[in-house]
Amino acid sequence: MNLTDLARSLRNCQRCQLAHGRTQVVFGTGNPQARIMFVGEAPGFYEDKQGEPFVGAAGKLLTDLLHSVGLSRSEIYIANVIKCRPPNNRDPLPEEIDTCKPFLLQQIELINPKLVCTLGNFATQTLLGKKVGITKVRGRAIRMPNFVVFPLLHPAAALHQGSLRKPLEEDFQKLKAVLDDMQAGHFDDPPTAPVTPQKAPQTESAPQPLQMELF
Ligand code: SF4
Repeated sequence: MNLTDLARSLRNCQRCQLAHGRTQVVFGTGNPQARIMFVGEAPGFYEDKQGEPFVGAAGKLLTDLLHSVGLSRSEIYIANVIKCRPPNNRDPLPEEIDTCKPFLLQQIELINPKLVCTLGNFATQTLLGKKVGITKVRGRAIRMPNFVVFPLLHPAAALHQGSLRKPLEEDFQKLKAVLDDMQAGHFDDPPTAPVTPQKAPQTESAPQPLQMELF
């Protein structure tokens, strides 16, 4: 199965209750051979209408942040944990995440990225497989068996809460260091020894060396 087959197989998915209120399944968009993937939570109003993730105000902010680290949307792949819009943009329910998560994992397997940037709590917890708050792990590279996870605040959260904008911008600058590391081929080597998780940086603005952690 390739990415197109997977998208086609979900077009009429009725596996969870979100099928009833959606306009369409929002599968994902971007470069199917991307080395970098971004994963958000679920489609919102505009995404549901247009069939693409991150097309509203949060999408514009994401595009600007990508440009700030030299990335364009055409070279990455963007998807969500949940492929159908929850009513009134409510949080996805645990059973909805459990039902839809296998398709995200399949998507990741088919794209085979080196780096997966998770946007917000739901995507981060889904891919780390742990109930961990985004504020505890954001801006840190975490090595998983097949790729590195880099959790970021969700752009929509930064739009709703202005004080989160600066931390989000700072984390994108940390992402730049991770991208440079990836470019240098450091992601190609398997980890040689377990790394003790480090404490979160005390000062948000101080530049931190890249810390690759194991979960
Ligand atoms: S959210 Fe996922 S599991 Fe639920 S109907 Fe949509 S595609 Fe299917």
